[in-house]
Amino acid sequence: MTKSLVEIMRAPHSHWVGDGFRVRSLFSYQGDTAAISPFLLLDYGDPHFFAPNTSGQPRGVGQHPHRGFETVTIVYDGEVSHRDSHGGGGTIGPGDVQWMTAGAGVVHEEFHSKAYSEKGGPFRMIQLWVNLPAKDKMVPPRYQAILNSEIPVASYEGGTARVIAGEFGDSKGPASTYTPINIWDVQQSAEGEVALDLPDGHTSMIVVLSGQISLDGQKISPAQIARLTVEGEGVTLNAAADTRLLVLTGEPIPEPVVGHGPFVMNTREEIMTAFRDFQSGQFGGIPE
Ligand code: MN
Repeated sequence: MTKSLVEIMRAPHSHWVGDGFRVRSLFSYQGDTAAISPFLLLDYGDPHFFAPNTSGQPRGVGQHPHRGFETVTIVYDGEVSHRDSHGGGGTIGPGDVQWMTAGAGVVHEEFHSKAYSEKGGPFRMIQLWVNLPAKDKMVPPRYQAILNSEIPVASYEGGTARVIAGEFGDSKGPASTYTPINIWDVQQSAEGEVALDLPDGHTSMIVVLSGQISLDGQKISPAQIARLTVEGEGVTLNAAADTRLLVLTGEPIPEPVVGHGPFVMNTREEIMTAFRDFQSGQFGGIPE
């Protein structure tokens, strides 16, 4: 048995995160958390053109905390600069990925890079939140900068897949994860059938970035996600030429999810503790 389509996830409205990131939350922990586990949230940054910014202050979002999960930022166009209270930081551009484990607590800021900001141009990104199992929610923060050059490219008939996390055929992704996860950046060049080897028992989602796919008689367009059954092995879909997909699979974490703003824990008490710890300065700050 192969996987089949459960639902098409979409968000009719976009919103701004700070003044730098115009996104649609295609799913979030405010919905059915079991259905999306181990993922928590996906902010899809529509293609957007930013004019050159000569103010000297790049657009973005200033210092804010996180606890209890990981943020994964995938840049398609433009550049994002990050700094955090744990000493992590750097600039990522097209093809690069930033994998930040907030764990016990981090304060960070996310801005357009100075160079991109001054020049302006197309901007497109995705930020995915990945849950941590209860036993790992309080691990020390960590920052993995995963550069385009480190991401293996696997070929299949009709296209290629950049393996960010997990495995695709013989290719292994560089991201270190706490639970079994696959993240593939798939580019289908020719119109045709695509068979993806998605593991049985994994929550499985296909984010359409450009082009179009059809699956079980339904068409799925850019800024939409096809969520598939957990049960079943693999899926076969039809893709238009020049279709770009982000394929996400992960083993569900069978634990309660209680999220509030930038914190995602297992109980309300842990959320209240997170607010208290942050307000009393335990997350630290970003060195000047
Ligand atoms: Mn953040």
